Amino acid sequence: MNYFSSDFKLGILGGGQLGKMLLFDTRKFDIQTYVLDPSDEAPCKIACNQFFKGDLMDFETVYNFGKLVDVLTFEIELVNLDALVKLEDEGLKVYPSPKTLKLIQNKGIQKDFYRHHAIPTANYQRFSDLKSLVVSILDSKTKVPFVWKCTEFGYDGNGVKVIRQISDLDNLANVECIAEEMVPFKNELAVIVCRNPSGEIKTYPVVEMEFHPEANQVEYVICPARIEDTVAKRARAIALHVSEKFNHVGLLAVEMFQTDDDEILVNEVAPRPHNSGHYSIEASYTSQFENHLRAILDLPLGNTDSKVAGIMVNLVGAEGFTGNVVYENIEKILSWNGVTPHIYGKKQTRPFRKMGHVTIVNEDINEARRIAEEVKNTIRVIS
Ligand code: ADP
Repeated sequence: MNYFSSDFKLGILGGGQLGKMLLFDTRKFDIQTYVLDPSDEAPCKIACNQFFKGDLMDFETVYNFGKLVDVLTFEIELVNLDALVKLEDEGLKVYPSPKTLKLIQNKGIQKDFYRHHAIPTANYQRFSDLKSLVVSILDSKTKVPFVWKCTEFGYDGNGVKVIRQISDLDNLANVECIAEEMVPFKNELAVIVCRNPSGEIKTYPVVEMEFHPEANQVEYVICPARIEDTVAKRARAIALHVSEKFNHVGLLAVEMFQTDDDEILVNEVAPRPHNSGHYSIEASYTSQFENHLRAILDLPLGNTDSKVAGIMVNLVGAEGFTGNVVYENIEKILSWNGVTPHIYGKKQTRPFRKMGHVTIVNEDINEARRIAEEVKNTIRVIS
């Protein structure tokens, strides 16, 4: 099929920043895109060929949108699965496949999948609701401490809580959940895998993630991770294995823990471009977004190697500010070498809202890390 400067239409479910960054590449290749998102102010609006406003969880809306396009992908997992299944059954190319998405959307099912395929992951128990978890603790079948995770609709750590005593469960929703063993880890790592329908598969280098202690959002993503080669090789091999078992098409971001004993445990996966791969726009030969596009269109994959060390700093709304956004000191950081801000285009800021990110590239990773910290301490997202 001819995708370039043709009538071909790629449909994207979700019009947020991930979609917006993907659209840089569809524009680069002159590939037509249709985007569906519930918000009139979706960041994608400025760059797609046609924008459709609608509910991503509504069967009819997603199904009718799918009927308009030749290949369908998504930039957010919270989409109506039944509509995707029907579209795929009717012959539409939906990548990643709804069959894969089904295994990922629910953390309990995802964990069972790892267990079934002998993919290393932290031990866990599944519960249909909070009450049965409480009973299990009272019966000493579940031991504190553990990590509580709701199985669906959690996002950026808001569906996750460390439980040290039973009263920590007090204000949690009475929903399906898992209780996972606390992992003593020294690093949180991620590997992005891309795979096309023909089976060509590549991994990006291992990245290291540093988290904000309170907000539970990633503060720095560092590429390459400052870990031993043997550990990095193992992490990449596990990520490849995970992608193959899912029979995944497109990008799969595999989040992992490096335990204190240098074991690699898979935490969770995201079947789409990922925050941990944003550095690749500036630092890699082929960005994650370009490779997502190549993968879902069954084109040859691009080189995933880095040209230079890259660090990403998330730009999140500062605490105490809600309203029209202002990027304080952005001119200052723009005057530094190798510093590139990305502004997602959300007009309103609120505490911890993801508003953009900054990439820092440098030949020397330690110098990049130093500049990244200065960037973080200089630019502020306020109102
Ligand atoms: P989300 O889907 O919201 O990103 P995660 O499962 O990635 O949720 O958990 C968020 C964070 O909580 C992780 O990045 C990690 O810092 C911490 N965490 C999650 N699971 C465990 C665990 N089993 N042991 C220790 N910390 C954990």
